[in-house]
Amino acid sequence: MHQTFNIQATRDIPAGEEVSINYLPEHGQVREQRVAKLEEGYGFTCKCPACNIDTKEGQEVEERRKDMQRIIKKTKALFADSTSPTETTSAGYGADGMQETLPNILSSEEQQQVDALRVMPDKDRQIWLRNRELEVLNAMIAMYQAEGIVGREVASIYYHVAILQQSTGSYEAAVATADAGLKLEESCLGTDHPAYSEALTFVESIKKMPLAAARFR
Ligand SMILES: [Zn+2]
Repeated sequence: MHQTFNIQATRDIPAGEEVSINYLPEHGQVREQRVAKLEEGYGFTCKCPACNIDTKEGQEVEERRKDMQRIIKKTKALFADSTSPTETTSAGYGADGMQETLPNILSSEEQQQVDALRVMPDKDRQIWLRNRELEVLNAMIAMYQAEGIVGREVASIYYHVAILQQSTGSYEAAVATADAGLKLEESCLGTDHPAYSEALTFVESIKKMPLAAARFR
């Protein structure tokens, strides 16, 4: 099968500078997960600055990602406990499936929240869950920004946020978020890439869509 790999520099590269790429899709995985995948898939032990936890930078990366994963796990548990099996969120939160159940990671306060959610009218529960989803996605964006990650993975999170914002009637915020995603795509792809045209079409649809997205009506 013919496959191509498109690489676009997002800044000037001085002559002689080593050019590196990320071998893994960027989902905020911790060192242990990344190293295992690289060993399995590429047969080497990664010693990049992010994977070197002997340095302050490496430790910071690791801590940020562990915090992020804690937020995601808690949210998954909240969703799993308070929604019916057929209900899912729009965001997959990266590599792991949403089906995973994680008992005993909720504090008693959060368990009370789950109990409250169970008896909430559907509409209120959906609003609560949607806000929680927005919190998680915004935390992911903050993590990516802190690490200077500007790949297309980040753009797709912006789009999720834009859809959720639009569904809450935050129309201007949705447009600004979608545009932020598109700007990332432009720096990753250039404007002459077919995937950029797809992204542009999506962002234009966000700008045209009615205030209330069909999903949460
Ligand atoms: Zn590494």
